[in-house]
Amino acid sequence: MTNRPDEFSLIEQIRRRTVVSDRTRLGIGDDAALLNVSGDGEVLVAIDVLMEGVHFDGERSGAEAVGRKALAVNLSDMAAMAARPTATVVGIVLPKRRAELLGQQLMDGLLGIAAEFDVDLIGGDTNTWDGPLVISVTLLGEPSGRGIVTRSGARAGDWLFVTGALGGSLSGRHLTFQPRVDEALTLHSAVNLHAMIDVSDGVASDVRHLARESDVGMVIDAGAVPIHDDVDGSLSDAQRLHHALTDGEDFELLFSVSKEDGRRLLERSPLDVPLTLIGAVTQEAGCRLRLADGTQTELPEGGWVHSFGDAS
Ligand code: ADP
Ligand code: MG
Repeated sequence: MTNRPDEFSLIEQIRRRTVVSDRTRLGIGDDAALLNVSGDGEVLVAIDVLMEGVHFDGERSGAEAVGRKALAVNLSDMAAMAARPTATVVGIVLPKRRAELLGQQLMDGLLGIAAEFDVDLIGGDTNTWDGPLVISVTLLGEPSGRGIVTRSGARAGDWLFVTGALGGSLSGRHLTFQPRVDEALTLHSAVNLHAMIDVSDGVASDVRHLARESDVGMVIDAGAVPIHDDVDGSLSDAQRLHHALTDGEDFELLFSVSKEDGRRLLERSPLDVPLTLIGAVTQEAGCRLRLADGTQTELPEGGWVHSFGDAS
């Protein structure tokens, strides 16, 4: 019999490489994993699926970066809830031709960032086919002592803040970004976060999500939006702003707090990361952009949406 690499040899390698903490009572190797839940017994669950050809270009990105990103986007979701990530379950579908190498590289990237954020890999599923690479990552987390932060708690009169800077992420940052897990927990313990979301679709689109779930309106100050250096400097100011508002994959935190807490954050930000006051929550429905001359326009549409049906 030859030692042809297969699903089980890859799983065995992953299993050998996996170091888990005490909370994982039973990890890789059985029909299900067993996890000890601390806190008041609540578990958060987030899942993201990344597909070669849609979310990344397999040749250009490299499987290690893809494995890292697949967990990183979930870490960003957990950050948006102000929760602490604990354990992950990973489904991979590998193209047959490149299965062994890709499987190893994917897990290199994933295990690297899992260790950084103290997340246990506790199980998964491994398949091969003649199609492109697909990876599905499920992340479990637990609320901090202060509970979770949802999208629905924004109140009229709140101030809107964003961490970091926005736009131009597709030039490379979308693969290397650092999920704002620690920043979210630090903010959560410093002030009363009313509502929060991570900026994945583009802040213009994510502002709408917050507004809809909270049943309020929002106004963004055009001049306040922090534009990332990754946005092409040779473009006009209006074009650069449009990129910052709609490019997406920034994985920064967008949140609302009371004016009082907002002032506190401006005076004494608890973070190393820059925080920017970009707007306010309004009673009046709708999401608007306030220009330098005081006039208001609709916040641009845009941001990434997966369409259904005919591609034409
Ligand atoms: P079953 O057929 O019972 O689902 P599998 O043979 O698919 O079992 O998996 C065996 C063990 O390996 C399980 O504990 C499963 O969670 C784990 N596993 C499979 N693929 C992966 C992977 N890519 N990463 C981590 N664990 C994995
Ligand atoms: Mg089984």
